[in-house]
Amino acid sequence: MNQSSPVLQAESISRSFPSSSGKDKLEILKHLSLTVTSSEMCAIVGPSGSGKSTLLHLLGGLDLPDSGKIYWNRFAISDWKPDKLADERNRQIGFIFQFHHLLPEFSALENVCMPALIGGRDIREAEPRATQLLERIGLSERMHHRPAQLSGGEQQRVSIARALMNKPAIILADEPTGNLDEKNSDAILDQLSELRDTEQVAMVLITHDRDIANRCDSVYELTHGALRQLKAD
Ligand code: ADP
Ligand code: MG
Repeated sequence: MNQSSPVLQAESISRSFPSSSGKDKLEILKHLSLTVTSSEMCAIVGPSGSGKSTLLHLLGGLDLPDSGKIYWNRFAISDWKPDKLADERNRQIGFIFQFHHLLPEFSALENVCMPALIGGRDIREAEPRATQLLERIGLSERMHHRPAQLSGGEQQRVSIARALMNKPAIILADEPTGNLDEKNSDAILDQLSELRDTEQVAMVLITHDRDIANRCDSVYELTHGALRQLKAD
C-alpha cells in the first residue's frame, strides 16, 4: 500500500490561536507533516486539547494553516479561491463527526442525499446511490425514519453513508465512535473498513480508543504539535 499515490498531504503546517489574554500565542500545530495514500486507513490519537480537531479542520480545508500546505490529490488547496475550495471539498472529502449533525426534519434517505443536492444534483439522480449506501450499511428498514427515530449507532451509520454519497477520495472522521458503546463502536469500525475496500476511500480517523486505532493501517500520536508514528502502513 506504500506504493500507492498520496491522496492527502500536509506539508509542515503550523497553526496557532491567540491566548484569551490576547498577549500570547497558543502554538497548537508546529511544522506538522502527514501523507495518506489511497485506501489507507490512518488513525490519529492524542490527549484532549492536543490539536486533533484543529488538524482535521485544516486537512479538510475548513480552516487555513498559518504556514505550510495541504494537498488533495497533489493539488495545493491554498491555491484555490473559496468557491472552488468549497466545490472540491464537497466532491473529494466526506466528514464524519462525533455528533452526527444530521438534519432533524429530514429522513435518513434525504440526509444521505444532501451532499449530492448541495453539489447541484437532482434528488432523482441522488436517490439510487443513497438507497444503496443505506442498504449496504444495514439500514434498509430505516430509510424513511428521521434521526430522532434512530439509535445513536444508527444515526452514526447514516452520517457515514452521507459522507460517502459523493464518492469522496478521503473521509475525515473526528471521534466517530466517541459517543457509542464498545459493541456499536466495533460495528462502526467493521463497516468503515469494509467501505474503505468497496469504495476505495482513504480515511483519517481521530480516536482516543487505542483498540480502534490499532485496527487501522497506520497510527500516529499527536503530541506537542507534531505527529509521532506508532504503527506503519
Ligand atoms: P483536540 O481535538 O485534540 O481535543 P482541539 O484541536 O479541539 O483539540 O484544540 C486544541 C487547542 O486549541 C485547545 O487548547 C483549544 O482550546 C485551542 N483552540 C481550538 N480552536 C480554537 C480557536 N478557534 N480559538 C482559540 N483556541 C482554539
Ligand atoms: Mg477534538
